[in-house]
Amino acid sequence: ATGQPVLLVAESVTKQFRGLRALDAVSLTVRAGEIRGIVGPNGSGKTTLFNVISGFYRATSGTVGFAGDDTTTARPYALSLAGMARTFQNLRLFGQLTVRENVLVALDRTRTRAIWQYAVWQPGVLARERRLRARADEVLERYGLTDFAEADPASLPYGIQRRIEIARAMAARPRLLLLDEPAAGLNGEEVRQLVRIVRSIRDTGTTVVLIEHNMGLVMSLCERITVLSGGRVIAEGTPDEVVAAPEVIEAYLGD
Ligand code: ADP
Repeated sequence: ATGQPVLLVAESVTKQFRGLRALDAVSLTVRAGEIRGIVGPNGSGKTTLFNVISGFYRATSGTVGFAGDDTTTARPYALSLAGMARTFQNLRLFGQLTVRENVLVALDRTRTRAIWQYAVWQPGVLARERRLRARADEVLERYGLTDFAEADPASLPYGIQRRIEIARAMAARPRLLLLDEPAAGLNGEEVRQLVRIVRSIRDTGTTVVLIEHNMGLVMSLCERITVLSGGRVIAEGTPDEVVAAPEVIEAYLGD
């Protein structure tokens, strides 16, 4: 990713919650094509950083830029339209919808008509619905979810639900995918599958930033790792560089 354009940049981002400074002058630069890992002890500010980047929280000070635009005050839906997708630590699948419908919802963000107009027969609308459905089926196929297309996500094993969440986030072909602890709760085989999925996502042109506790996963997957502790970046570099950094060893021993 060296030499690639910068896709995401945070400059001196601080996030204050009343008396607590969750982020303290955090700067981060992610280039297109990277798989970046964000690690750090519990409460070090990782999810807060994701929330600031993706517009769920507003930075108290500092700036955020995405794809060349200043997105410091951008709302989540605007960032999503601009090509940023994310998953959450706790699954957020729609329980009333089938697996295919969960993916369709993510695809149909370019809807140009009011919902009620879809009730009126219009050849253009039907063709569009067919295209979207075909595209949803393509996404399900790519993530090995075809057999579950009609299922209620809640009825499926946890590992499959996590995969659906990634598939849904990828449906709109984002430029940047933010994954918040994607390996949490997965078994060994599912973690290996996740590694393959994340690599293939990057190989098809989507930049990935992931928060993860599973150090083995981060070490094998990420070219660069950013380490947070107490709301500050205490180390950044290749996996070998960060594990050898004294600040990192100390932060983890103190966890
Ligand atoms: P991590 O993801 O590294 O475990 P978080 O970003 O979730 O850490 O949390 C960092 C700190 O900010 C924690 O002390 C947490 O309690 C606090 N925090 C996070 N979100 C909020 C919030 N909405 N209101 C108040 N405090 C929060």
